[in-house]
Amino acid sequence: MELRAFPAAFGFLAVACSGDGQSPKAAFATSGTHSLVQEQLRQQNDAVLLVHPPGLPADRAHARDQDTFVVLAGEIYNHEELLGLLPDGAEPSGDAELVLKLLGRYGHHAFRLINGRFAAMVGTGRQVLLATDHAGSVPLYVRPSPGEVSAATEAKALAPHGRPQGTPIPGAQRVRRVPGAFQVPAGTVLEIDLPSGTARSHPTWTPPLHRRIMSEDDAVGAVREALERAVRTRIAPGSTPFVVLSGGIDSSGVAALAHRSAGALRSVSMGTDVSDEFDKARIVADHLGSAHQEITIHSSELLAQLPHTVWASESLDPEIIEYLLPLTALYRVLDGPRQRILTGYGADIPLAGMHREDRLPSLDTAVVGDMSTFDGLNEMSPVLSGISGHWSTHPYWDREVLDLLVSLEAGLKYRYRRDKWVLRAAMGDVLPRETVTRPKLGVHEGSGTTSSFSRLLAEHGVPEQHLGRAKRRVVEELFDRTVVAGVHPDETDTGEVVRQVAAGLRKEGA
Ligand code: ATP
Ligand code: MG
Repeated sequence: MELRAFPAAFGFLAVACSGDGQSPKAAFATSGTHSLVQEQLRQQNDAVLLVHPPGLPADRAHARDQDTFVVLAGEIYNHEELLGLLPDGAEPSGDAELVLKLLGRYGHHAFRLINGRFAAMVGTGRQVLLATDHAGSVPLYVRPSPGEVSAATEAKALAPHGRPQGTPIPGAQRVRRVPGAFQVPAGTVLEIDLPSGTARSHPTWTPPLHRRIMSEDDAVGAVREALERAVRTRIAPGSTPFVVLSGGIDSSGVAALAHRSAGALRSVSMGTDVSDEFDKARIVADHLGSAHQEITIHSSELLAQLPHTVWASESLDPEIIEYLLPLTALYRVLDGPRQRILTGYGADIPLAGMHREDRLPSLDTAVVGDMSTFDGLNEMSPVLSGISGHWSTHPYWDREVLDLLVSLEAGLKYRYRRDKWVLRAAMGDVLPRETVTRPKLGVHEGSGTTSSFSRLLAEHGVPEQHLGRAKRRVVEELFDRTVVAGVHPDETDTGEVVRQVAAGLRKEGA
């Protein structure tokens, strides 16, 4: 089994009913072809609307054997290991069938074995299983009720569906203003009893709490090896990898390893009229001989993409939206055919790069804090690139890479007065020295996104001390319009929302 250029499905809306159900209909932000699949099991009727790459059949996204039906959006990276667990000759045709076979052998514990980027729904007996990957990197939402369970990879697909009052799910976050809907936690299998609609939660992954003590050489070698494997398993055989490249160590590391793996590379860098990192990215692109492109987006055009970013990510966190906005804008202007995109996103979370901590206790506090609050932020949602038909993947949040990076003792992360030391050292031989030693610049800083958003609010009279509050309100309002009310982001005017929020704050005397 090889990784294909694109997953068989990007997303789905699934409805499982004890009795007869209606055909599910949904407006996804993800662009793609919609296909309906229906299966009658002994104790449930399942109807699934798949959104998948145009021109490719969605067959490999679902599989059935007797009374078990599997639907999977996304992809699996540890095929080789998993196939080794199955009897010889049982080569599955795709990821859904692989999961089906693993379920036959391990039950719902199968999901503990998988290293991937996926969301899955399984109908079996009187149960519905809903599973996320370790990082919840493909968001999954559910509305359970007695006799009917709806689940979707985008919350907006549940907004108009089903009965308003769902059955509560302990430990799961509710979706803002979508009654009865919850987000399936990261690294979890929810086991839902269809007749009663009640759920039991089985965690399949948790961030390491312990810290490993390793020599410099061992740690550097382990990081390099894990990352090489994560990058290799994310490149479709025979293809030229495509990297969104800033020239920072995270994306430059991915670019260098992708180039080593495939022998060729394409890359793109975005900047705005306010700020760019073009010189830094160019150094890496030249070093690797990458076919490199630079794209400039005007900052007003960038801010006009705020509704699309909230619509796609379904995130309510204004800081996260500032990281995701420039990337969403970049994905939207990529012309030509749809792409499989490799990013360097997420390295800072296990390495505390964003916190720029030099004191080891603070560094570990930052890692512990971020690893316990990432769930539900949807930073790695595939919908961000999916609105333009692309598929993105994040090697630093590969399960094995993440396990390793989180668990390294803090002194390997900050060392010799360098942040992200172990990563920089692991890339020392494949990147120019100035790239390896370059201080961190966040995507929201390098593109001037944070400052442009602040300036827009200030121009509408929001005082400096209320910028944070105003940004949160803008994001909430955009969520309510594009996700809850279903207004298309093209019909949503950032300027008008900003004016409304600024006026509201003035009225409150802020
Ligand atoms: P560093 O954290 O050291 O700055 P980085 O720039 O690669 O490294 P981030 O700043 O955290 O990482 O940005 C997250 C990811 O977003 C990058 O790894 C890269 O894939 C993408 N990205 C960031 N800025 C740009 C940009 N200007 N153009 C294209 N892609 C970018
Ligand atoms: Mg950066």
